[in-house]
Amino acid sequence: MPVLQVQGLTTHYRTMRGWVKAAENVSFDVAEGEALGIAGESGCGKSTVALSLLKILPQGGVIRKGKILFEGRDLVPLSEEEMRKIRWKGISIVFQGAMNALNPVIKVGEQIAEAIKTHEKDVSGSDVKDRVAKLLETVGIEPSRADNYPHEYSGGMRQRALIAMALAVNPTLLIGDEPGTALDVIVAAQTLKLLKELKDKLGLSMILISHDLSIIAETCEKVAIMYAGKIVEYGDAVSVFKNPLHPYTQGLIKAFPSIKGPKVRLTSIPGQPPDLLNPPSACRFHPRCPYIMDVCKIEEPLLLEHGEKLHRAACHLY
Ligand code: SF4
Repeated sequence: MPVLQVQGLTTHYRTMRGWVKAAENVSFDVAEGEALGIAGESGCGKSTVALSLLKILPQGGVIRKGKILFEGRDLVPLSEEEMRKIRWKGISIVFQGAMNALNPVIKVGEQIAEAIKTHEKDVSGSDVKDRVAKLLETVGIEPSRADNYPHEYSGGMRQRALIAMALAVNPTLLIGDEPGTALDVIVAAQTLKLLKELKDKLGLSMILISHDLSIIAETCEKVAIMYAGKIVEYGDAVSVFKNPLHPYTQGLIKAFPSIKGPKVRLTSIPGQPPDLLNPPSACRFHPRCPYIMDVCKIEEPLLLEHGEKLHRAACHLY
């Protein structure tokens, strides 16, 4: 059984102007030890999906439909108290712009210790200390640096400390929401390498949310491409990147430079992502699609299987 099965997740935000349809009928699953990448332009709903999984949506955010089956149990109807037991221990998250998530006046080691003590009441003081040292070591930080304050860490170290914190109580599933985005490219690459190593070493299941396809291609076995709140293509990462079916995925891939492949001119996708208060009818990509047909404005394309490996696309071309 997959660790996580998301079925028809629909999350909207209530605003003065109406409902913003941020995630619509989103379905995917993550197996044990597997990494799923969720990609798309900013505002496509990928972070909304992550926040929905932990039920930590900002004000106005409501899960209107769907199921989030974590280890077989639906999280959607759970109370806040029940969710607190799932967060960190079951599903843990490393946020985008994580630099500001550490408390500047508390030593890093103490902050990690606090995460352990909050979720495991019976653990002794010396055990906590040992675990903090081991966690820091796991993420490549010298354990003696536990006694430093966050400002004494470099940007990359702070990001690593946050990953250590997210791993503090051995979660089953780790979500990285644009990890490393706020860092320079070298540190961002190191952060990613670390996540990949941790996944292999600890057998973690992972969801990596990123606008950067190269990050996902390197780290994940499976990928979901989101556009305007919906998954438009989903499947085995190699199959999707080698043979993208949806015109949006094709456009995204063309917009990214390849280090290994031949030099080609990068092209951007013309037009802007739509306003999710009032999204386009049927296929939400139709105002930007070079292959638009009459049916695309009238009938919503379903996410259907194409190919031998897991590879689904929602497009009337197929
Ligand atoms: Fe383009 Fe039509 Fe396919 Fe949408 S369904 S991506 S508009 S061809």
